[in-house]
Amino acid sequence: MAEYDYDLFVIGAGSGGVRAARLAASFGARVAVAEERQLGGTCVNLGCIPKKLLVYASSFREELEEMVEGYGWSVGEPRFDWRRLSENRDREILRLNGVYAGLLESAGVRHIDGRATLVDPHTVAVGNERFTTRYILVATGSRPFLPSEIAGIEHAITSDEAFHLSELPRRVIVIGGGYIAVEFTCIFHGLGAEVVQLYRGPLFLRGFDDDARAHLAEEMCKRGIDLRFGLVPKRIEAVGRGVRAVLNDDSTLEADCILYATGRVPKSSDMGLAEIGVNLADNGAVVVDGQSRSSVPSVYAIGDVTDRKNLTPVAIHEGVCLANTLFNDRPMRPDHSYVPAAVFSQPPLGTVGLTESEARQKHPEIDIYRSSFRALKQTLTSSEGRTLMKLVVDRESDRVLGLHMVGPEAGEIVQGFAVAIKAGLTKSQFDATIGIHPTAAEEFVTMREPV
Ligand code: NDP
Repeated sequence: MAEYDYDLFVIGAGSGGVRAARLAASFGARVAVAEERQLGGTCVNLGCIPKKLLVYASSFREELEEMVEGYGWSVGEPRFDWRRLSENRDREILRLNGVYAGLLESAGVRHIDGRATLVDPHTVAVGNERFTTRYILVATGSRPFLPSEIAGIEHAITSDEAFHLSELPRRVIVIGGGYIAVEFTCIFHGLGAEVVQLYRGPLFLRGFDDDARAHLAEEMCKRGIDLRFGLVPKRIEAVGRGVRAVLNDDSTLEADCILYATGRVPKSSDMGLAEIGVNLADNGAVVVDGQSRSSVPSVYAIGDVTDRKNLTPVAIHEGVCLANTLFNDRPMRPDHSYVPAAVFSQPPLGTVGLTESEARQKHPEIDIYRSSFRALKQTLTSSEGRTLMKLVVDRESDRVLGLHMVGPEAGEIVQGFAVAIKAGLTKSQFDATIGIHPTAAEEFVTMREPV
């Protein structure tokens, strides 16, 4: 291997790139990582972590206004300070950037600050320097997509800017019906803004279980969020310090800001990929095989830039598989089945496995177990919220194919059950499991009759 400067040159120090780099180094590879921005990628700097901190911040209002009084507490008028939250969050992100730097250093991975481009299948350039390498790993992630055909789209912001607003907007329009749109709608609403969320289809969160989608929509409406389906802006205009959106039904909406969360696109342009023969899909995704190898044998790609399942833990898993395959003599293929996920809405939605409609397409007979209830914690409060839990079961094998939940702590609860679903456990094994009482999660092991 000594004919190259490095055994592995990673482009992009996000979750996937850093994990692959550290693990490869632990297997004895000489590894460098180039990053043009802060260490940690989207997850740490402009995604999962700051988003979840905002979710926590925004959830306190409901607790204070609806929950605590019934339990005997009296609190004064709640006041929220966006700047203080932003400063605290930025400090935490800076700390995490430092943690990532420390992790790379202690693993013996060289961190190169700058934008990397591919010169040939074994050479990477950063600034004026060139590095030769046996393998190149593209882990550059994705960026928000904005539909450029909408007149006035330059007045819109994306999630990138939403994190860094100088003040909390009083009125917000959110466009889109995916994870980011739903999460930011709930965040801004929880922090006290008036929010209208517009989605072009009949019901948001396409691809999630239909009962879960409908239940979440209902819960969000109960909380006072203005959800409007079948609507999109056809034009956006600046008015004063705010915006006006003219919609496809010719109605208009005014707000202090309009947030587009209409998907993300792989970051693969202007880095020499196509020039050296790496095949890219129409949306720019690096096309890879089951071992994350591109059409150029020395170039691999993982994470959002490959547009497989765009989730941080999946990118990390892909990085682990790759490092084992290349440097540990242990070929591993990333497994994208039964990946659990959560939308950190309020209430959150957790899911693993097949939706009811996916299961109906793949299995001749399925049983559905469904329960909707008011959680114990809410009984002494004015909260009207209800929790939904649902199991999708293959009647022939008794295997639980899918598990879905909308309600407090759905992400935490579904993460636990995801092990059982991934392991292929049956409904009888769920039934044989004793519940922990009183919890909401026990409902998943006490659902007796299919609906
Ligand atoms: P998604 O792909 O999840 O959703 C995009 C949404 O925008 C869809 O509702 C889509 O509608 C709509 N849309 C697309 N194009 C247009 C358009 N031109 N005009 C109007 N609406 C449009 O993307 P997100 O941006 O929400 O998130 C990106 C990815 O990031 C997610 O897929 C997920 O993998 C990841 N993520 C995960 C999170 C988590 O795990 N909690 C949190 C945030 C992001 P339609 O359904 O009709 O296509």
